Amino acid sequence: MLDPVAWLDVPQEVSTGTLPGWERVDEIVREAHARYAGERGGRVADYIPVLAEVDPELFGLAVIEVGGGVHDAGDALHPFSIQSISKMFVYALAIQEHGHERVRDIVGVNNTGLAFNSVVALELNEGHPRNPMVNAGAIATTALMPGATAVEQWERVREGLSAFAGRPLSLDGEVYASEAASNDRNRALGWLLKSYGRLAGDPDQIVDVYTRQCALSVTAHDLAVMGATLADGGVNPITGERVVTADVCRDTLAVVAASGLYENSGDWLFEIGLPAKSGVAGGIVAVSPGKGAAAGFSPRLDDAGNSVRSQMAIGHLSRSLGLNLFASAPAQADDSRSGPRPAGKERS
Ligand code: GLN
Repeated sequence: MLDPVAWLDVPQEVSTGTLPGWERVDEIVREAHARYAGERGGRVADYIPVLAEVDPELFGLAVIEVGGGVHDAGDALHPFSIQSISKMFVYALAIQEHGHERVRDIVGVNNTGLAFNSVVALELNEGHPRNPMVNAGAIATTALMPGATAVEQWERVREGLSAFAGRPLSLDGEVYASEAASNDRNRALGWLLKSYGRLAGDPDQIVDVYTRQCALSVTAHDLAVMGATLADGGVNPITGERVVTADVCRDTLAVVAASGLYENSGDWLFEIGLPAKSGVAGGIVAVSPGKGAAAGFSPRLDDAGNSVRSQMAIGHLSRSLGLNLFASAPAQADDSRSGPRPAGKERS
C-alpha cells in the first residue's frame, strides 16, 4: 500500500497550465532525488533469478518535457530491463496497427484487481484477458504484432519501442536467458489463452517474444523519453519522429491509468493522479499529457511489484510540478465575460 506521507508535505500545484521553467523543473527533480536517496523500503524481485543480483542502492530519476527539456538525476543513465513497462508501448503499437475497436475486442480495459501474473483472473473471465497491463493481456497483445514469424514480430516490437525511446534498444541477453528458463507461469498463461481460442499462433513462440520485449535494456532517461512521446500526442520530443497518433496516446494512457500499477492502480491514482506503468526491475514511468513524463528506477519493490523509491520520487514530482491530472484551482474571473459573475468569482 502506498504511504503518501512521504510527499504530502510538498505543496500541491494544480495541473492546469504548463511546467515551470527548465531551471525550476531541474531544481525540483534534484530535490526529489536527494529527498528519497536514503529510503530503503521494499525488496528486490527474485522470481527472475538474475534480477535478485542487482545492486539495490541504484536510484535514478528523469523528467523529459514535451518541449524537449531533459532532466536526469542520480543513476538516470544506468541500464535495467524494461519488464512490464514494455506492455504499455506494445499496446500502443497494437492499437496503431489494428485500431481502437479491434484491440479492445481482443483485450479488455478494466483492472483485474489481481496480481500481474494471475491465472485466476483469466479463468474467471473465460479466457478473455481483462487488460493489457497484466501478463495474460500483454501476451495476447504481443500476439497482435505484425509479422509472418516470431522473429519478425520481435523485430517490430524492438523497432517500435526504439522509436519511442529515440535510440536503438537492445536485448539484455542475461535477463532474457534467466527469464526464459523460469517463465513456466507465463507459458501456462499462453497455453490457457490458446485453449480458450484467444491466441492465434504458437503460445510458446508468442511468450518468447513477450519475454524478449520484457528484457529490452533501458534507462530511466529512456523511459522518460518514451513516456514523453505519449504525452506529446505521439511525437518523440527529442527526435521529432511521429511514432503513433494522438488518439493512440489517449487510448493507451486511459488503460495505463486504470491498470498500470496492477491491483494498486486505484491507490496510485488517488494519491498521485497520473497514468503510470511499473516493471519488476524497478522502473516506473508516469505520463502527464501535454507536459512530459517522469521516470524512476530503484530496484526495491512493494508487494504488488512496484518500485518503492520510484513511487515516492514521482509522488513528489507530481505535486511540486503540478502533474496530478485531478488537481485544479478555481479559474480567475474572466473580465471579458458578459453577464453576472458567479458567486465566489467576484473580482478581487
Ligand atoms: N517479465 C515479467 C513477467 O512476465 C514482467 C512482470 C513485471 O514487470 N511485473 O513476469
